[in-house]
Amino acid sequence: MTTDSEPVLPEQEEHSRAMVVFAHPDDADWGCSGTVAQWTRLGWEVVYVMCTDGSKGTEDRSISAIELSRIRKQEQVEAGRVLGLKSIEFLDFPDGYLEPTIALRREIVRVIRKHRPHILITTDPTRDLRHFQYIGHPDHFAAGEATLSAVFPSARDHLWDESFLAQGLEPWKVHEVWVMMFGQESTFWNPIEEEDVVKATGAIKCHVSQLDQPESVDKWMRRWRSENGKNIDAPYAEGFKRFQLVPGFSPDDEDESTDK
Ligand SMILES: [Zn+2]
Repeated sequence: MTTDSEPVLPEQEEHSRAMVVFAHPDDADWGCSGTVAQWTRLGWEVVYVMCTDGSKGTEDRSISAIELSRIRKQEQVEAGRVLGLKSIEFLDFPDGYLEPTIALRREIVRVIRKHRPHILITTDPTRDLRHFQYIGHPDHFAAGEATLSAVFPSARDHLWDESFLAQGLEPWKVHEVWVMMFGQESTFWNPIEEEDVVKATGAIKCHVSQLDQPESVDKWMRRWRSENGKNIDAPYAEGFKRFQLVPGFSPDDEDESTDK
């Protein structure tokens, strides 16, 4: 018996489960699919949670909302297959009407408690007004806001909707939240490999109904990720705002080298 060994917390474990919560098919595959590819390559279980039914994103008047939703969900399933996801949860709120309601939060709490992710990625809950040609999509802010509120405090508190306990859905503390960032506001860059970028590009190409210029996808996917990589001297990286809500679980807690 040694006297100087570190105490081991009974619940201590390495991160191996992740969840990505977003509004529409392709949101996650644009914003963080390289990181997702990296994690599945390392053997992690990654679950996507799509808040809307994806029934509005088209200018084609010949296609119905129901048919578009069917097509876009199938595209997301195929992208998920490329990335090696464990599963996709479709919450099926109407596309274009998403709000950070208690009803939405409850469904996100349900999937958090079901899958118990160590790291959860979601979209920015604020409207970004820095871009001349883009004002953001309200469903993205709504998904981000509902998700952050689900992580803290609702998924954590056993008294928040006690009906979950009767269903065997125990409280869960998400260890880290990473908010997808596309520009300069990232505080953390996750380095990814060439093979992850290749897989991420393969995933985004599954969203055929959304790609006006499929030939430009490789360029777009690489340009943003290589720009991010310059911040940490890596060939590629994806940018986030990172929040560590439960410290002490990850073996790399001491390594803040990639934090700003
Ligand atoms: Zn979207």
